[in-house]
Amino acid sequence: MVQRNTWQRERVREALSDARGFVSAQSLHATLRDENTGIGLATVYRALAGLAAQGDADSLQSPEGEALYRACTSTGHHHHLICRSCGLTVEIEATDVEQWAKRTAERHGFRDAEHIVDIFGLCASCAKTRDEERDAD
Ligand SMILES: [Zn+2]
Ligand SMILES: [Zn+2]
Ligand SMILES: [Zn+2]
Repeated sequence: MVQRNTWQRERVREALSDARGFVSAQSLHATLRDENTGIGLATVYRALAGLAAQGDADSLQSPEGEALYRACTSTGHHHHLICRSCGLTVEIEATDVEQWAKRTAERHGFRDAEHIVDIFGLCASCAKTRDEERDAD
């Protein structure tokens, strides 16, 4: 049976909206598999790439080099603060970064410069949990 690609993409979009923070294609695929949607991993990759290209999803590289995606709540250029433990994501403006990137590109004669800057760390509640675990040792 041939399924319409748009149906699958909508299902991937929904799963992405339900996810907390950034998720990999693999983990999204696992969620969809649990729901017996029958959507294959390759389709999830394609759908995510399509959503990112349309600006409906954010994509970024984890420190481990894995592509992560998120249904973004703000449009236009912005940055992220991401908890590497629980995936909590905060969308941030970074005026200093914008100016620095523009100046640096210009100084080197670059035009149409783009940049991706995301900050990974431990959110306040994960940091607290980590401290409590350490104290318990
Ligand atoms: Zn975003
Ligand atoms: Zn956290
Ligand atoms: Zn920026």
